[in-house]
Amino acid sequence: MTGGTTGDVTRRYVALARVLGMKSIAVARQVHGTRIVEVGPSSEPGVRVAGEADGLVTVAPDILLVVTTADCVPVYVARRGGDGIATLHAGWRGAAAGILERAIERFGTSYGVGAGDLLVHLGPSICGACYEVGAAVLGAFGYDGGDRGALDLRAELADRATRAGVRAASVSRSDWCTRCGPVRLHSHRGQGGRAGRMASFIGRVGDSG
Ligand SMILES: [Zn+2]
Repeated sequence: MTGGTTGDVTRRYVALARVLGMKSIAVARQVHGTRIVEVGPSSEPGVRVAGEADGLVTVAPDILLVVTTADCVPVYVARRGGDGIATLHAGWRGAAAGILERAIERFGTSYGVGAGDLLVHLGPSICGACYEVGAAVLGAFGYDGGDRGALDLRAELADRATRAGVRAASVSRSDWCTRCGPVRLHSHRGQGGRAGRMASFIGRVGDSG
């Protein structure tokens, strides 16, 4: 989605939820942190803003969890065959600070779901070849030496997921790059910081429909 007033964005979110058969939609004010907010059930339709956070998790049906990105990685987590879902906004800061590990842990503490029962998908983001970063960012991922280098955020996140106990076969990733891929996507780097944002969402339609 590309800008617009808050009212425009809200209307588009509500329309999206309706098309997908969802009652409400949850978003957060993303701050490149690791805070994950649990979204409870609600009978109120419309958009719920979960405050400052970069992750949303729920077991409630009919709620669409949304993160917005343009080069950062939209991460989807779901319990295999069950009712827990989460979505995360993972740029280098959040990834290095462990937002994915925190989400995996949260499934255990809040819902009693082990990492081995989780599916993780890493959505369209900037690819390793397009993402040249400086020493500080490389250092945050444990690489030293060299002033600049390429960082594959999705590879880092996939590695972190498996180290946290998610089965390698349960981790999937999009090949699409927001900057160099064949499909035109919003890219913060590719569009000089003037990019719009892509909304990535996950939800579960309740049994009662
Ligand atoms: Zn690329």
